[in-house]
Amino acid sequence: MTVATVNPATGETLKTFDALGPEEIETRLSRASSAFAEYRTTGFEHRAGLVRRAADLLEADTDEIARTMTTEMGKPVTAARAEAAKCVKALRWYAEHAPQLLADEHPDPADVRDSGGAAAHVRYRPLGPVLAVMPWNFPLWQVIRFAAPALMAGNVALLKHASNVPQTALYLEDLFLRAGFPSGCFQTLLIGSGAVEAVLRDRRVAAATLTGSEPAGRAVASVAGDEIKKTVLELGGSDPFIVLPSADVAAAAATAVTARTQNNGQSCIAAKRFIVHTEVYDDFVARFTRAMEALKVGDPMEEDTDIGPLALRSGLEDLEELVRDATAKGATALCGGRRPPGREHGWFYEPTVLVDVTPDMRIHHEEAFGPVATLYRVADLDDAITLANDTSFGLSSNAWTANRYEQERLATDLQAGAVFFNGMTASHPALPFGGVKRSGYGRELAGHGIREFCNVTTVWHG
Ligand code: NAP
Repeated sequence: MTVATVNPATGETLKTFDALGPEEIETRLSRASSAFAEYRTTGFEHRAGLVRRAADLLEADTDEIARTMTTEMGKPVTAARAEAAKCVKALRWYAEHAPQLLADEHPDPADVRDSGGAAAHVRYRPLGPVLAVMPWNFPLWQVIRFAAPALMAGNVALLKHASNVPQTALYLEDLFLRAGFPSGCFQTLLIGSGAVEAVLRDRRVAAATLTGSEPAGRAVASVAGDEIKKTVLELGGSDPFIVLPSADVAAAAATAVTARTQNNGQSCIAAKRFIVHTEVYDDFVARFTRAMEALKVGDPMEEDTDIGPLALRSGLEDLEELVRDATAKGATALCGGRRPPGREHGWFYEPTVLVDVTPDMRIHHEEAFGPVATLYRVADLDDAITLANDTSFGLSSNAWTANRYEQERLATDLQAGAVFFNGMTASHPALPFGGVKRSGYGRELAGHGIREFCNVTTVWHG
């Protein structure tokens, strides 16, 4: 894929970039390695000062960077501003909490004596330069949620961003430089995916984190496995949204619309499969479909647009193909199911509700990365859980019920990295984030995230 900014609202190529060659990559790897040698010796207070400064600068840049993101990948500009604000919060959160999250740990003295030692503690040391392979859908947030903890832990970062968000990628490098980080602490590598393997195999790169699709995750994890390097993988999802009879159906339907269509439907933690108890199914479907139809699809730069274009032409074509396959096999689109009439330019797709979905359809198993919801009617809680788990993914899950017994069953039995009750899945710096099954492994955010790229060092005194 060419490294370029192509406006998905118009299809126009605005700017292309030359990918880095081997010599330029070498310069950056060498810079990362030297920067790490120094930066690892700094204390939390120093690092927090730099991270807080990055937060302040980002806050001041919000409008500008929001417009850049919208131009590059099509999210409504209101959502882009909210994304920048979330990044500011995460930077400040880690600046404040990292010292306590990475504080030395002291085992029970009786256990230390039992090990034959006089004293022992556990220390969290940084690993080194970490390669971050990142997607375009939250082009600031995905990077910051990795970078804030990584930099607070004393690691340095090499960002290989998605090829369609180069200006956002370059902005991030500039942001950390302006904040006062030494050059080499955070570098953007403008490279295509074909150049990732060589970077990852370089002995100076200690570990990798990838957020993206399953094939990309498999490729990076295979190389990292071959090199015995630690990885965190945040991959796709097809999260269930379960509605049971005790739910507030009006609230569930309203939230379901946001949960499915946030970020033009291109979120890994978007609710994608709506599993509704037969007692409330008709009511939910009517409310949900009405609200999906009422969304405004249009220019993402306009303040009142709900749904902008999909980020990539290939993404639009994949989504169309999934819907075509489903309707050819008997599914019905209650709304949408097509590009909006009159929009020949840009990669727009109407919010779509599909019913009568069956396991022989691709959309039953694959991730729909766009504003397309699949609805299922179930007879009871057991059926809801079975259907929710009938997927290779396991990122998050949502369930609407006021019944404590049902909540306990769902929290125990749903195969996912999170269960959100009576609300929709959203990430927060204090809550661990990540999946099971083919949604990946490892966790980001909270204490779990910051410790992923640490050398958990046992220090023992005889
Ligand atoms: P993608 O095509 O997998 O791209 C993600 C990143 O991986 C890009 O930087 C891409 O570079 C790179 N890449 C692709 N193939 C590669 C390979 N073989 N080797 C090395 N790097 C490779 O995914 P996307 O289309 O940008 O994002 C959509 C997917 O990401 C969805 O499945 C979504 O659910 C998932 N996602 C997951 C999370 C999460 O937290 N779990 C969050 C957001 C998105 P190029 O752009 O140069 O190809």
